Amino acid sequence: MKLVIFDVDNTLTNTGRADQDCFLQAVNYVFNIKDIDTDWSHYKNVTAISILDQILRAKTGKVPRKREISDMRDAFLSNLKERSKKRPGEFSEVPGASNMMTELLRKSEFASAIATGSFADGAAFKLEFAKIPYKKYCIASGAECFTREELIDIAVTKAKSVYGVSNFNAVISVGDGIWDLKTASNIGMPFIGVGNKQVLEQKGVKYWVNDYRDLPGFFNMLSGAV
Ligand SMILES: [Mg+2]
Repeated sequence: MKLVIFDVDNTLTNTGRADQDCFLQAVNYVFNIKDIDTDWSHYKNVTAISILDQILRAKTGKVPRKREISDMRDAFLSNLKERSKKRPGEFSEVPGASNMMTELLRKSEFASAIATGSFADGAAFKLEFAKIPYKKYCIASGAECFTREELIDIAVTKAKSVYGVSNFNAVISVGDGIWDLKTASNIGMPFIGVGNKQVLEQKGVKYWVNDYRDLPGFFNMLSGAV
């Protein structure tokens, strides 16, 4: 069985913009901090708690407390819900994603997991809003770890338990971020890039799709990548 690990924002749902704005709003609400560098590639690690940690250290010299992180998670989710009511168009699927995940969940040779740098309940909300099926309990989130490598590790561990296997024949990462590509290359894991063509191509991405409308093409790529 091969495990396919998906990022969420701009990989399965076109929620990059909404995610960023709702995160910044939550930081402002919980920590009263504005003027944040939103080029996430400038941060050492791109996970929610790592970014929060870096912002807080730089602005206040402190580190976020557990309670503050859970307040962040709650504020972020309620911001997302509010935003989806006002601008539902910002919560659409990447074309073909729902169909592709339905098909992937049907295939016994594949397992799937979600690895989001953002918060887990926010990711679940985005996937459900866009009607994208996913394996529950196979979500690894950026609230659980400081690095994207750990994030992949957590996704693999959760998927092993959910699918009841001790190992996968292969693990493939699917993502849109430069950090997704970097993480896959650090781990030595096959990677399929989604969208973000110029940046990913410049960094030498080998497998790339714009979206999932060509379903056989995507599955051929999954088989070819390992
Ligand atoms: Mg992304």
